[in-house]
Formats: sequence, structure tokens, C-alpha cells
Amino acid sequence: MHTAELEPLRVHVAAPPVGMVQRCAACQVVLMDNTGWTNGTVAVVEGDDQGLSWWPAGERIATDKTPERRASITYVVGAGRDLEDDEQPCAGSN
Ligand SMILES: [Zn+2]
Repeated sequence: MHTAELEPLRVHVAAPPVGMVQRCAACQVVLMDNTGWTNGTVAVVEGDDQGLSWWPAGERIATDKTPERRASITYVVGAGRDLEDDEQPCAGSN
């Protein structure tokens, strides 16, 4: 079923995390934000990212996140496959 307001997923490329934030290497959108670990009750020793979750750097990450909306779907696009019709490279890539 095609729904007009359904946006295609944007496919980003995960850059290595900088501090507690991981962005897309191409368009700089935030893919993962772990700042809660530093302003919450969890102490993180510098250089020890145990417990933090990051996307694998260099992997293609598909998400429906937009600047206006939190992601409801985010997943790793497996290497070696073409993008589906509802998956479009983000603005910064290609
Ligand atoms: Zn991107």
C-alpha cells in the first residue's frame, strides 16, 4: 500500500563517534547521541565505551529520522546489496 505521506528512508554512512555523538559522515545528521551517559547517573571512564551503543563506523544506516522527527525505524543496511525503492541516499552522499 502506498501512503503519500510516507517518506522514504534516508540512508546515511556512520562516521566514528566524536565524544558522545555519532554523525553521518556525509550530511552530519546525528545518528546516535549518548550524551545521556555523561549527564545522567552513569559514569563513563574516558576511553572506556563499554555500555555505549554506536552504529558500526562505515556502515550504511537507514533511518526515517528527520530534523523534525525522532526515528521510529533505524537499521544497518547490509553491505553488498542495492538500496530498496524506499531507501534513498542522504543529501550528503554521492
Ligand atoms: Zn547522511
